[in-house]
Amino acid sequence: MVETSESKPRVMVICAHPDDLDFGCSGTMTLWAREGREIIYVLCTSGDKGTADPGITPENLMEMREEEQRCSAANVGAKEVIFLRLRDGEVENNQHLRRELVRLIRKYRPHIVLTHDPANRQFDNQYLCHSDHRAVGEAVFDTIYPAAGNRNFYPELLLEGYEPHKVSEIYFFGTHRPDVWVDISSVMEEKIAALLCHKSQLGSDKSFVSWIRERFSQLGKPKGMKYAEVFRRLNLGP
Ligand SMILES: [Zn+2]
Repeated sequence: MVETSESKPRVMVICAHPDDLDFGCSGTMTLWAREGREIIYVLCTSGDKGTADPGITPENLMEMREEEQRCSAANVGAKEVIFLRLRDGEVENNQHLRRELVRLIRKYRPHIVLTHDPANRQFDNQYLCHSDHRAVGEAVFDTIYPAAGNRNFYPELLLEGYEPHKVSEIYFFGTHRPDVWVDISSVMEEKIAALLCHKSQLGSDKSFVSWIRERFSQLGKPKGMKYAEVFRRLNLGP
């Protein structure tokens, strides 16, 4: 079948903080954007606690980090960036968050959603097991099944015109159980450029780029790829 831009799976990435999705999947997003897929980013927080600098207020930091995320989205070719502006470090998988996510999933109707792996509870990595990452991963899962596709959840959204929508696949990043390797060797420089947009998080650490190369090179090794991003894919059927 010849794919048209209409038939290319629409993609939504939902993550906790600015930069999470650039670590997790911006190489894959660059490849998919080049294929003509429509990509929507949803940021649950704007990372307002992500500094040790007493001279930067949470409000200033939010502004900076939203701009940084828009910069990376533009580099990658994502169509839209949406900020829910929950408080950093205080995200809960509750009805408020789920209703917001159901609204967005019904509005944009993605075939594929990418998010943090909520099954990663090994607590052997402080970044991967950040409480916001766990909460967002769980909230996304609970939103996709069963709420987004069932009209009896949040009937007020029907009145706003948002009809039920079933997502076909979830790709979890930050996973300990990958079953999908995406070869990002051809877009590694773009991934690095997307990560370097997050200037407020980089500090003066000059070894960041070599650390990133090493990290994604390690992920690619089992499949003989120079650089890879890895995911656990959940197929939810047609
Ligand atoms: Zn994060």
